[in-house]
Amino acid sequence: MVINNPSGATPASLRKTHRGMILSRIQAEPGISRAELARLCGFSEMAATRIVRELLAAEIIEEATTTNRKSVRKKHVGRPKTGLRILKDGLFAVGITVSAYHSEVSICDADGQLFASCRPENVAFGDVSEAARFYANALQDLIDISNIDVDRIVGVGVALSARTLPERGEIVTSEYFGWSNDGGRFCQEIQKIINLPVEIENIANALAIAEMRFGAARDVSEFTLIHAATFVGAGVVSEGRLVRGASGVSGSLGHFRAQKQPLTCVCGRHDCLNLSATGFGLLSRLGKLDHPTFDNSKISYYATSLLTALEDPELIGAVAEVGENLAPALDNVAKLLGPEMIILSGYLGTNASYFDAVMSTLARDFDHDPKLSFNLVKGTISSVEAAALLALHTYCYSDRLDYDRFARAATNTGESMHG
Ligand SMILES: [Zn+2]
Repeated sequence: MVINNPSGATPASLRKTHRGMILSRIQAEPGISRAELARLCGFSEMAATRIVRELLAAEIIEEATTTNRKSVRKKHVGRPKTGLRILKDGLFAVGITVSAYHSEVSICDADGQLFASCRPENVAFGDVSEAARFYANALQDLIDISNIDVDRIVGVGVALSARTLPERGEIVTSEYFGWSNDGGRFCQEIQKIINLPVEIENIANALAIAEMRFGAARDVSEFTLIHAATFVGAGVVSEGRLVRGASGVSGSLGHFRAQKQPLTCVCGRHDCLNLSATGFGLLSRLGKLDHPTFDNSKISYYATSLLTALEDPELIGAVAEVGENLAPALDNVAKLLGPEMIILSGYLGTNASYFDAVMSTLARDFDHDPKLSFNLVKGTISSVEAAALLALHTYCYSDRLDYDRFARAATNTGESMHG
């Protein structure tokens, strides 16, 4: 008998997909019943029950008893309801945020809560391999002192300002760090020290993924995240999926044409948004730059100076002026993509003066009305959290969960406990 299977999906790959769907639902709706799960995922109750049984056996989810709150309020004694929820310390994900602001290595639990983190200082960004080894060692130290079981870590997420090919684990180019075509060296160096799968992603994309699953954009399928700090970039989500463009080139908002400035962008032009709506643009206005061309060797200086400027109440006006410069780009994004929501993220993007200036300029010059168009909101997830959440999204709540590994680990722990 020929089974019509146009997608080419095998039973094994289908099982992985279904497992990812069920796990995502349980995470999004703690306390959900097997019957609700089956209905929402479009499975038979028998199929849903079988997957749930597997996830319970691998100690990834647990049965939770909750009393029905409505009944309690009505003074009826609510019948305790048994539902399913993610076992918080059932699985963990770890992350590396490569940044000139606050470099951070972190661990989050299966629910996306930060479990442990550490800020390694004085990172040398000059060489890709050296930087990778530095971060990997810092992460390994954190894993060691946090006492979590390495067998329960799903993978490593890396978030950085670069164009990447996550499926090949490669950095294509980073104008910001001055790296190009690393041939997968960054990820390979990490794997030599921490033997786990590594997902590497542009910071704006990593933040977009994290906001979609754990933050401001839950249940929003069309949105754009703008990450504004020293430079500006975007992560675009459509139909609940990241839009990468050809060779991961989407979201290059920083090279949108804007007013000409007495500065030079990494691309050689003088009229990029990177020069007017950003931390780099702000520092130039404040007379903090003695050079007109962006210089990779000074990214730590740019970061520290921007953080200092954002703390200074006398500079609120200057910060607002660079915020005004972002508004026309957002209007273009909205007209092209029609997002429900635009999220402003990053040290500059979430700054109150910058954010308010973007909002008021949109209303004043572009007739922006949130009721008719997109909602402008501040990001709820920091760059430092985004890396570990990226790993959680990739290696836990998807068809890439290595179920057999965790099922085996659960059996082994059980045996050693009873043995
Ligand atoms: Zn440019």
